[in-house]
Amino acid sequence: MYDSIKQKGKRKRLVEKLVSKGIRDKRVLEAILNIPRHFFMDKDFHDYAYDDKAFPISNNQTISQPYTVAFQTQSLDINPGDKVLEIGTGSGYQTSILIYMKSRVYTLERIFDLHRMAKTTLSKLKMHPEKIKWSDGYLGLSENAPFDKILVTAGCPNIPTELLNQLSINGKMIIPVGLDDQEMCLVKKLGNNDYSKKNLGKFNFVPMLKDKI
Ligand code: SAH
Repeated sequence: MYDSIKQKGKRKRLVEKLVSKGIRDKRVLEAILNIPRHFFMDKDFHDYAYDDKAFPISNNQTISQPYTVAFQTQSLDINPGDKVLEIGTGSGYQTSILIYMKSRVYTLERIFDLHRMAKTTLSKLKMHPEKIKWSDGYLGLSENAPFDKILVTAGCPNIPTELLNQLSINGKMIIPVGLDDQEMCLVKKLGNNDYSKKNLGKFNFVPMLKDKI
């Protein structure tokens, strides 16, 4: 797989589109400009990789829409060195954006097939998460907690207590909450058992499901 001038041009236009939709974080835009999203997608979709749309990946899952990736990442205010837990590795695209932004990423995926493919794609791009694990994200990753940031990329019926527990004080979590469509919720941990919550609008995600398969 290779990255062509044509693909780079399309990425530049995608970035312009994201700016027009309100994405302001320069480091998020820089990451989207530089990461070849088509590497994370099936060959059949390569021509459309820089449309601002979600696309199917295997096992009935999706690679999130670039706007959604940009919005969630921007909301977390990612700084270099931040310890970030991602729930739902999927294709690995969101993971690569976080790594490009020099955060230390721990990413969990419940479907073995996707976990394995994302691992291969990321290593081809020489992008190395701190940990990439086949496991149920509802449990979080207690052995590496606490995390500065938690990014959930699947729709969750409610905010799992286990994930709140694994957030550091002053840490932030972005999580789509709801069944059919979701309200994007930004949670800040102010102290043990003290949180602030802000709703940031409607989005559409595949569901967060229990147990690894
Ligand atoms: N971040 C991904 C988005 C993938 S869609 C990307 O950029 O491509 C959401 C992913 O969450 C799917 O791969 C799905 O299998 C996974 N998922 C759903 N429930 C989960 C759970 N309990 N633990 C871990 N991953 C989960």
